[in-house]
Amino acid sequence: MESLNKISRIAPCGMNCGICMAYLRVKNKCPGCRVEDSNKAISVIRCKIKNCEVIQKGKVKFCFGCDNFPCKNLKHMDKRYRTKYNMSVIENLENIQRFGIRKFVINEKIRWACSECGGTICVHRQYCYNCGKKSEIRNET
Ligand SMILES: [Zn+2]
Repeated sequence: MESLNKISRIAPCGMNCGICMAYLRVKNKCPGCRVEDSNKAISVIRCKIKNCEVIQKGKVKFCFGCDNFPCKNLKHMDKRYRTKYNMSVIENLENIQRFGIRKFVINEKIRWACSECGGTICVHRQYCYNCGKKSEIRNET
């Protein structure tokens, strides 16, 4: 279906860019953290993790490869996402580390698929961007 590299839609912090509202929206669509593009969302441009020196220099592909994992910035983001969106990026990273990126991407597809149309549930909005159905997976994790 897609020729994109498996890793390209998973940000170094463990965030799945494919379920982000900036990625899913039609207007001003963000191509994701790993794609070089000027259309990137302002939150990506300002992101401390994306702009982290270790990531920028390409020393590690994901935060778990870093000596400082999990660092203050990542913990801060993780807490925000757990509280607001019921999703943990640190948990994502641990799953990638344990089971590999391939398995993670497959699991993510299932986890965020709309039960109505198979479209993608947005982590930020908690509804399907394709048919508008509200998500039921919210409290599952
Ligand atoms: Zn749907």
